[in-house]
Amino acid sequence: MSQWSLTNPSRENLHLEWFLYNHILIKIHSAGQYPILVRKDGTFDNEVPHVEVILGYFHEKNKIYYNDVCVRVYSPKKNRPSIVMTVWKSGAQPKNLSADILINLAKMQFSHALELLKNMKDEFKKSKERVKEARAYPTIFDTRAAYESACKKLNVEALSDEICKSYGVQYGTFQFPDYTGNHCLKMKLARRRLRGLLKLAKNNPDQKHVIPEKAAILHMPCKVCEREPCFMPLHLCEHCWPKE
Ligand SMILES: [Zn+2]
Repeated sequence: MSQWSLTNPSRENLHLEWFLYNHILIKIHSAGQYPILVRKDGTFDNEVPHVEVILGYFHEKNKIYYNDVCVRVYSPKKNRPSIVMTVWKSGAQPKNLSADILINLAKMQFSHALELLKNMKDEFKKSKERVKEARAYPTIFDTRAAYESACKKLNVEALSDEICKSYGVQYGTFQFPDYTGNHCLKMKLARRRLRGLLKLAKNNPDQKHVIPEKAAILHMPCKVCEREPCFMPLHLCEHCWPKE
C-alpha cells in the first residue's frame, strides 16, 4: 500500500486494494466503488498513469458473488479528462469464483497493460483511425455479398445474417475504448448489414424469421459482446441471442 492512501471511505464488504507493479499504481476495486487515493506528496491517483482492475459482482441472499473482471488503463491529460482504455474483460464467469481467482486472471494482463500505457497516444489514434475506415462504405448493406466484400477489404470477420439480427448487434453499444478498434469496426459493419436485413423483412413481411434453438454451451467469447460462455450454433451469449 506504500506511499498511497485512501481519501474517501469505502464500503467495507467490497474488495479494495492497491499496490505498485513495476512502479505503476494498480488499484483493484469493485464496480460502482470510486476509491480516490492520494500519494504522500499530495498527488491524486487520477493525476498519474495507472491501472484499474474492476470486479463485477452481484448480490444473492445477502451474499456477494464476484463474476466479472476488467482491466483498464488511465492516462491523465493536463486539464482534460484522462484517456481510459479497456485492456481486457473476462466476460461473465460462473458465480462460484472467488475475487482472488478473477484478480489472478487480471494479473496476467498487467505487463500488456503497462505496455499500452507507455504507447497510449499511438494506440488511441490507431483505433480511432481503424473505426473511421467504415466511412468509405455504404451505411446499409442490402446484399450479403456487399457486406462480405466490405468485411474482406477491411479485414474484419463477417458475421452470419442470423448473428447480425441478434439482440446484441441491434442494441449493444460498441465504442472505443470499451472495445478495441477492430471490434468496433466489425460491429459497425454488422449493424449496417442488420439495416439491410430489416429493410428486406419490411418489404417481404411474410418471411418468417426462425430463431435457432440454443444447443451446446461453449466456453468461448460471444461473437458480439465477447462475454463467455456462448451457445451453439450461433456462438452468441445468453444476452445477444436473437429475441422473438
Ligand atoms: Zn454476447
